[in-house]
Amino acid sequence: MTTGIGAHRKHIQRRNELVEILRSKGIRDERVLAAIQSIPRHIFVDTALENRAYEDSALPITCGQTISQPYTVATQTELMQVEKGDKILEIGTGSGYQAAILCHMGADVYSVERHEELYHGAKKKLHELGYRANLKLGDGTLGWSAYAPYDGIVVTAGAPVVPDDLIKQLNVAGRLVVPVGSQKSQVMVRIIRVSEDSYREEHLQHFKFVPLIGEKGWD
Ligand code: SAM
Repeated sequence: MTTGIGAHRKHIQRRNELVEILRSKGIRDERVLAAIQSIPRHIFVDTALENRAYEDSALPITCGQTISQPYTVATQTELMQVEKGDKILEIGTGSGYQAAILCHMGADVYSVERHEELYHGAKKKLHELGYRANLKLGDGTLGWSAYAPYDGIVVTAGAPVVPDDLIKQLNVAGRLVVPVGSQKSQVMVRIIRVSEDSYREEHLQHFKFVPLIGEKGWD
């Protein structure tokens, strides 16, 4: 592992390369790309995986979970159409990387994680980077009603069905982005709350996520 300024420059260069890969794969939202360009993803993975941090791939983190592939993070963030000041709920804090991206974009971030070790790890890393995300340890399939409604909700684990609590916690014009399907493959679903009692649902690309486990998820 290189240290100091050399390592810093190398990481910046790799992030620039990653941004070009995401652009070539169709990511268009410049604010999302700028956040990926800025956030040190290597801080969110184990030091043994640091040299792979800027590959466009998911990587293992503790508790048998993963930090999502950058393309997946970029796609979900782009689909949420995040504006500065939006109140965003993330289900599945994991490493804290997606939460950092959202904070960098100026969102007011709420994030729920079911594994205590990941919850504490993400809290520490986000604090070290100077981001003030609101984190909770618990079952995110129930959302986080105390702070609802949200302008955007992103679920970063694969659900068997769209959890109804999450739909209810959307603001009017709010966007819910959730992968839904079997444990092997899910389709990205975006639900937009068009008015108080009407929703528009879109089915997009296929992805593969770790399972969303909880009362309104998998057993
Ligand atoms: N967003 C994360 C990141 O940036 O590193 C990636 C998360 S990983 C793909 C999915 C996460 O969802 C795991 O950390 C897992 O423990 C969490 N998870 C699964 N079911 C959950 C639930 N019901 N409530 C909260 N977190 C859950």
